[in-house]
Amino acid sequence: MAVRWLFFIIVVGILGGCAPKPTSTPTSLPEPTLAPPAQASPTVDPYLEKRLKLVDRTMRNRGIKDERVLKAMETVPRHEFVPPEYIDSAYADHPLPIGYGQTISQPYIVALMTELLQLEPDDKVLEIGTGSGYQAAVLAELVDEVWTIEIIPQLAKQAEERFQRLGYDNIHTRVGDGYYGWPEEAPFDAIIVTAAPDHAPQPLIDQLKNGGRLVVPIGPPGGYQTLWQIVKEGDDLKAYNLGGVRFVPLVGGGQSGEPGLLEDRFGQ
Ligand code: SAM
Repeated sequence: MAVRWLFFIIVVGILGGCAPKPTSTPTSLPEPTLAPPAQASPTVDPYLEKRLKLVDRTMRNRGIKDERVLKAMETVPRHEFVPPEYIDSAYADHPLPIGYGQTISQPYIVALMTELLQLEPDDKVLEIGTGSGYQAAVLAELVDEVWTIEIIPQLAKQAEERFQRLGYDNIHTRVGDGYYGWPEEAPFDAIIVTAAPDHAPQPLIDQLKNGGRLVVPIGPPGGYQTLWQIVKEGDDLKAYNLGGVRFVPLVGGGQSGEPGLLEDRFGQ
């Protein structure tokens, strides 16, 4: 504004010096018109278009219907969750390495598993296998609070730093063996396991609310597994087979190789 006034004064001063003297007292000076205040330019996301295309092509067109899930997938910047050397591949529909022999999951599978959790905004959700933190961020777009457990401390630390940087202050992270869940915070409306156990972990089933959903890939390490949605109905469990998937193995104390609950109850 000061610059405008200076300009105005100079111009009026120069013209005043050249022009014939006014014969009458000048009327009051016109109010200078001010430019609207400068707006802080919104941060431009150079990957937005790629992300929207990915969601359309690999999720909407492949049957993901929950609009809230699709919106979350359009919102979370996957490129922020991959190592710098993979940023250009962040919006291809496949898993990527994140170090320590682990991966960030394929976006379509993240959307599918998230949809299977059937989340309501006030649901309590637990994730086993924080990894990069991407899945937890997608969940954090959908519910008020998310709990996530990672067994590799370095990955947990990196994920926590990302959550802070990106403003996800509704995610609680813990280092530990997720096979045993987070009993102090139980019961949960939904639990998602993003590494493959060889059987359904009983502690996770115990930590589900009545009506709660557990989404988990189950099968032998190194091979293909079956993706299950298990719904707790009183003392009963209903299990739905969603087909073949491939995940890194769940490691830790719970992997005894003993026949698991699904084998016991459903003859799988
Ligand atoms: N959800 C992750 C993401 O969005 O990036 C991807 C998960 S990655 C496929 C599987 C993760 O599970 C790895 O980070 C691995 O260290 C972790 N994991 C394996 N066994 C675990 C256990 N018993 N408890 C907690 N985390 C475990």
